[in-house]
Amino acid sequence: QQLSNDFQFIDVGRRDPEKKEAHLRVREFAEIYAEYRPSEAASQAHRCLHCGNPYCEWKCPVHNYIPNWLKLVTEGNILEAAELSHRTNSLPEVCGRVCPQDRLCEGDCTLNDGFGAVTIGSIEKYITDTAFAMGWRPDMTGVEWTDKRVAVIGAGPAGLACADVLVRNGVRPVVYDRYPEIGGLLTFGIPEFKLEKNVMKRRRSVLEEMGVEFRLGMDIGRDLSFEELLEGHDAVFMGMGTYKYMEGGFPGEQLDGVHKALDYLIANVNHNLGFTASPSDFTSLEGQRVVVLGGGDTAMDCNRTALRQGADEVTCAYRRDEANMPGSKREVKNAREEGVEFLFNRQPVAILGEERVEGVKLVRTRMGEPDEAGRQRAEVVPDSEEIIECDAVIIAFGFQPSEIAWLDTHRIEADERGRIMAPEHGSFAFQTSNEKVFAGGDMVRGSDLVVTAVFEGRSAAEGILDYLGV
Ligand code: FAD
Ligand code: SF4
Repeated sequence: QQLSNDFQFIDVGRRDPEKKEAHLRVREFAEIYAEYRPSEAASQAHRCLHCGNPYCEWKCPVHNYIPNWLKLVTEGNILEAAELSHRTNSLPEVCGRVCPQDRLCEGDCTLNDGFGAVTIGSIEKYITDTAFAMGWRPDMTGVEWTDKRVAVIGAGPAGLACADVLVRNGVRPVVYDRYPEIGGLLTFGIPEFKLEKNVMKRRRSVLEEMGVEFRLGMDIGRDLSFEELLEGHDAVFMGMGTYKYMEGGFPGEQLDGVHKALDYLIANVNHNLGFTASPSDFTSLEGQRVVVLGGGDTAMDCNRTALRQGADEVTCAYRRDEANMPGSKREVKNAREEGVEFLFNRQPVAILGEERVEGVKLVRTRMGEPDEAGRQRAEVVPDSEEIIECDAVIIAFGFQPSEIAWLDTHRIEADERGRIMAPEHGSFAFQTSNEKVFAGGDMVRGSDLVVTAVFEGRSAAEGILDYLGV
């Protein structure tokens, strides 16, 4: 490879890491992309133009020093690249795998003007995976330990990012989670074909070596009260996510064969990890005709999980058009390659059947004026009903904030949609209306992204350190 050429992007096109063929990948719950070879990573990184004002950095929610670590990769300096990428991101190996790069960093790469964006996400993943394999660990030698005690509720990306920044600043956090493993939705939500579970196991051991303590299988509010937690610590961070299922509000949702997206995905992960207590906790859609309702990342994960379980056919019905889909375009493409049939501009009005699901009644829609969020509304086309026959329906309409018993008792305010109020630019970043309590991630933003949860967890940790005077 010719790495001295500043116009490398002209000679070397964008090349994603190798992807397994669709007919092979639907047979297994495993990641579909291979790792770059060192020469591939270096030549892809060398396509970066080093723009004076890199838009990719601004668009990345954690503002990664992207051109700087790309340069280190071209020089083969992976350990320094890993050190630098961890300065802004607590889970770069995860973000590199699951961020919707097409609408974040890579979406704003200057090379999109006809050359193809730099493969920023895949290189970010490559840096961390390679550095870990080389034995790299975050350097904790300069840390001065304090006697401050901070509890973190939730071992999802928000909680892990908060713990990472706290421990690097001499505060040993104790992270509580009701699940038996760390990761939150990274472990018990996002399927293995996007993120294999050993990635989170490796991150767990890295954080433990750094001084983070995990108390797993502990439900705060049931196994330990919030009062006890608050009394025993100088501050508490809540990164508990959003888990209340959003219903469709149409007839037939209670029929046998109708599944809630997250329950279905969690049961599948538990089954694959060997955590399932009884066979009735697991749903297999083998041999069934499946309709998935929804068009976001969760819907895509359900589509592809059903295919891997051996579903006969999987149809995904979404009420807007393809351009207005909220999730990652890459994952829609992957789902289509694997055999998912998409029905756009279709809105469900009823699930049909006597006791079990027999079909879904849909109406057609067309795109109308934009709503408050700027997305075009779906308007129903009169007299456009159609029925799709099926054996199973998965409802993936998103989540609302969970109901948490202790909020009122402890003066922790939420907005009208139930999201915890923790302003980014308050006296201390991400402090709630109870001065000892901080919050971030999905429970503050509503369901969003891994990288935004990481950003808020890290920022809240800065807020906690300021509050504690560390
Ligand atoms: P979570 O990840 O939900 O973690 C919260 C943790 O808090 C959980 O582990 C939970 O057990 C714990 N907890 C809650 N209450 C208690 C309690 N009382 N006691 C103890 N522990 C408690 N984002 C992307 O960027 N890319 C994707 O491809 C993507 N795919 C997704 C696919 C699915 C199926 C879903 C559901 C989401 C996806 N997301 C994706 C969104 C992303 O996973 C979330 O935005 C992110 O995980 C939010 O992080 P969090 O830390 O706020 O919450
Ligand atoms: Fe891109 Fe996400 Fe990495 Fe930021 S964290 S550089 S948005 S892949």
